[in-house]
Amino acid sequence: MTDPNCLFCKIISKQIPANIIYEDDQVVVFKDISPQVPVHVLIVPRVHIPSLNELTLAQSTVLGHIALVAKELARAAGIDASGWRLVTNCGPHAGQTVLHLHVHLLGGAPMAGKMV
Ligand code: AMP
Ligand code: ZN
Repeated sequence: MTDPNCLFCKIISKQIPANIIYEDDQVVVFKDISPQVPVHVLIVPRVHIPSLNELTLAQSTVLGHIALVAKELARAAGIDASGWRLVTNCGPHAGQTVLHLHVHLLGGAPMAGKMV
C-alpha cells in the first residue's frame, strides 16, 4: 500500500529525508518543511490513502490513533494547555497539495483568526 511516486511514501520508506520526530506501526510524524506556527508537524499514516475522500471503513481506525498520537505530541511539546489544532485538507478547495492523507498538528502561538 505505497505509491512509488508519492512524496510522503518516500519519506515513510526513508528514500527522502525528513525531520522525523515519532513513528510507530501505523503512523510517521515529521516536521513540516514550511512551518506556519512554532509547532507544525504532519501526522501521516504509513498506508497510502490519497485523502479522506478515499478512506475506507477498514482504514478508518487510523484516525483515532492519529488523535491519540497528537495528544501525546502536544503534551511533549508543552502546548497541551496553551492550545493546538488538527487540520486535514481534502481536495483543491481546501488547498491539499500532497495527495497522501496527513493531519497537521499546529500550535505554540496564537493562531490568527478562526476558520470555523
Ligand atoms: P497540504 O497542503 O495540506 O497538502 O499539506 C502539505 C504539507 O506538506 C505542507 O504544509 C508542506 O509544507 C509540507 N511538505 C511538503 N514537502 C515536504 C517535505 N519534503 N517535508 C516536510 N513537509 C513537507
Ligand atoms: Zn503516499
